[in-house]
Amino acid sequence: MKKGILFVVSAPAGCGKGTILGQILKDKKFYYSVSATTRKPRPNDVDGVTYHFLDRTDFEKLIAEDAFLEHAQYCDNYYGTLKAPIEENLSQGKHVILEIEVQGAMKVRELRPDAKFIFIAPPSFEVLRQRLEHRGTETPEVIEKRVDAAKKELEMKVNYDYCIINDVLDDAIADFKSVVRAEELKIQP
Ligand code: 5GP
Repeated sequence: MKKGILFVVSAPAGCGKGTILGQILKDKKFYYSVSATTRKPRPNDVDGVTYHFLDRTDFEKLIAEDAFLEHAQYCDNYYGTLKAPIEENLSQGKHVILEIEVQGAMKVRELRPDAKFIFIAPPSFEVLRQRLEHRGTETPEVIEKRVDAAKKELEMKVNYDYCIINDVLDDAIADFKSVVRAEELKIQP
């Protein structure tokens, strides 16, 4: 059986990556890697589905056990990708999607040069701020922190293989599918 492809997707908060991935993941050829985090669940979060929610002690225990492919601190919380399910799903022929921030993505780039890196960008920072305010799940202080983080993250897009601008949602979804298809059709050395 042909192995799946590892896709690493990064996007500043509020870029609509959740909505794009929600559509992409309807296709069962994809496996979404559920990260562990110490951040508090939001109303739409489901433990074990959107994240594995852990306290800092348990997270640090997993770091010590070398359970993570990568982990990073982002806005004062830990986030990490668990190693075990990735290889298992790739060898079953599924494409694995890691939805992680840029520091973690750069670590994966070193560890997994076979992975494909997709950056999702907002049409502008103003649109990004409006989307975060509209979501209403963060305080103004956290929104400012996230917009600042987004500016830094956007500078990192040169390290990715593809950049998808999420202006019109359907176009962004179509672009994502085109990237996947192109990678599936690529002749392997
Ligand atoms: P949020 O708190 O909005 O769900 O996620 C904040 C950031 O953490 C997002 O950029 C998200 O992509 C990133 N993130 C989620 N899981 C992981 C992970 O396992 N590792 C790393 N490095 N970043 C992650």
